[in-house]
Amino acid sequence: MSAPNKSYDPVEVEALKPEEVARVTEAALAAIAAAPDLGALREVKIAHAGDRSPLALANREIGALPPQAKAEAGRRVGQARGAVNKALAARQAELEAERDARVLVEEAVDVTLPHDRVPAGARHPITTLAERIEDVFTAMGYAVAEGPEVETEWHNFDALNFPPDHPAREAQDTFFVRAPGGDRHAEDARGSSSGVVLRTHTSPVQIRSLLDREPPVYVVCPGRTFRTDELDATHTPVFHQVELLAVDEGLTMADLKGTLDHMVQALFGEDMTTRLRPNFFPFTEPSAEMDMRCYVCRGASVGNPDRPCRTCSSEGWIELGGCGMVNPRVLVACGVDPERYSGFAFGFGIERMLMFRHNVDDMRDMVEGDVRFTRPFGMEI
Ligand SMILES: [Zn+2]
Repeated sequence: MSAPNKSYDPVEVEALKPEEVARVTEAALAAIAAAPDLGALREVKIAHAGDRSPLALANREIGALPPQAKAEAGRRVGQARGAVNKALAARQAELEAERDARVLVEEAVDVTLPHDRVPAGARHPITTLAERIEDVFTAMGYAVAEGPEVETEWHNFDALNFPPDHPAREAQDTFFVRAPGGDRHAEDARGSSSGVVLRTHTSPVQIRSLLDREPPVYVVCPGRTFRTDELDATHTPVFHQVELLAVDEGLTMADLKGTLDHMVQALFGEDMTTRLRPNFFPFTEPSAEMDMRCYVCRGASVGNPDRPCRTCSSEGWIELGGCGMVNPRVLVACGVDPERYSGFAFGFGIERMLMFRHNVDDMRDMVEGDVRFTRPFGMEI
């Protein structure tokens, strides 16, 4: 405030002095050059070229200058702002190029690397074979039925006409979850006083199906079953069965035979056939073992030493499982009138079918969970 004319003379505005404009311009250019990345450059742009930057504020002062000084200051500030904007644009382009180059390196994909460092597993062939068998029967109108793996002794044995002293009920064959107690013979017990076991076959699902549904009943029951076998090449304590049950008016052994033939033809080829040999099971009467034509030699090895067959030991037939007409006692136990309805049933082991269908020699391979075993089946079915 030394002289009044100075404070009113706009020529003397500090921000517009050439050295001051040069100073803020230099500071801006230095900051732009020093910005290490695009984020920092954005900050620099706001500070040195934004609305409140020194050059923008200086620009606002120009309007108050006298005409002569206005032109000169305008040129000076304009050039300075131009230089700053040009430097900003150049640095922006430079940093973008750097970023793009870095992204190309960092996000590069080496297409020659192995794609399956964590290879996908495969569904277990037991599962896929069980589903294929289910498909054969659902195509004929059967429903898939399932039941509990922990089963009452009543469902597993009594209702299926196993007498109380049947050897299959012994602890050496059956896993007991709860020891039996009370009256096993009571039909209304339905498990309340009978023991509890790990089901030894899928047949209790037949019982549950008959109890739950009104005839006609057509069900296919795949599932896991348990017996106290040691694990070896041909035995496993946990295995799988498929059980079939048909109950309707007028069913005969001929229907059973036709159904069996259709199944093996669907699974093994059109020229396949089955044969029945008399047997005994508590839950069917009459009962039979069912064999299927050897799918390898088609019977050609029988009596032909020049063409021996390992699969059927040159017998021409492979044992598949058990079957028969549902014992009327089973129908009665499930509240079905045996005078009106008859039925047939059969069951077989899926492991066994997998063994001869795919030449699996050792049952242990199926339970060890080694992906090298399951993977070859991955594309199958
Ligand atoms: Zn054969």
